[in-house]
Amino acid sequence: MADAPRYLGYELSIDPQDTASRDFFRFCREHQLHLQCCGSCSRLRYPPSPGCPFCGSDGYTWIPVDGSGVIHSYTEVHHAVSAPMKPFVPYVVAIVELANQRDDPAAGAAIRIPGNLVTADGNLNIGDLRWGIDSPVRIVFSDVSDEIAIPLWTPLEASRFIS
Ligand SMILES: [Zn+2]
Repeated sequence: MADAPRYLGYELSIDPQDTASRDFFRFCREHQLHLQCCGSCSRLRYPPSPGCPFCGSDGYTWIPVDGSGVIHSYTEVHHAVSAPMKPFVPYVVAIVELANQRDDPAAGAAIRIPGNLVTADGNLNIGDLRWGIDSPVRIVFSDVSDEIAIPLWTPLEASRFIS
């Protein structure tokens, strides 16, 4: 039996009944960002869920979306909260806001996806990159198994610090 997939020291698993999450991460493994599009109100949603949080419909399709956005918020983690995280500090967790569906269904609403901020090749040590709130980023993926990849975010080349 193959080892369970791991990310940053943690074993990953998705409930077999959670088909929405399984499909989301399967698209990530293909290095594509897909979101659920409601069959009733046509709104996109994240995180994956069996029902639409806006209208309650359980019908949806997956549609590809551009894997770019801006940093809405972030935190820098310098103190490992558990032993498996010690090798990885310091690292950054960002919440990235996509351009899709801003201010819908209400002012301030947006699709926001969390993930580590990394170099373009997925390294958590981003010391020479410049970034902050509203910095443009694009999605990259860390493959953790044949079925799962984790979405991560990297600052666009234009925002790379030149020393
Ligand atoms: Zn809906």
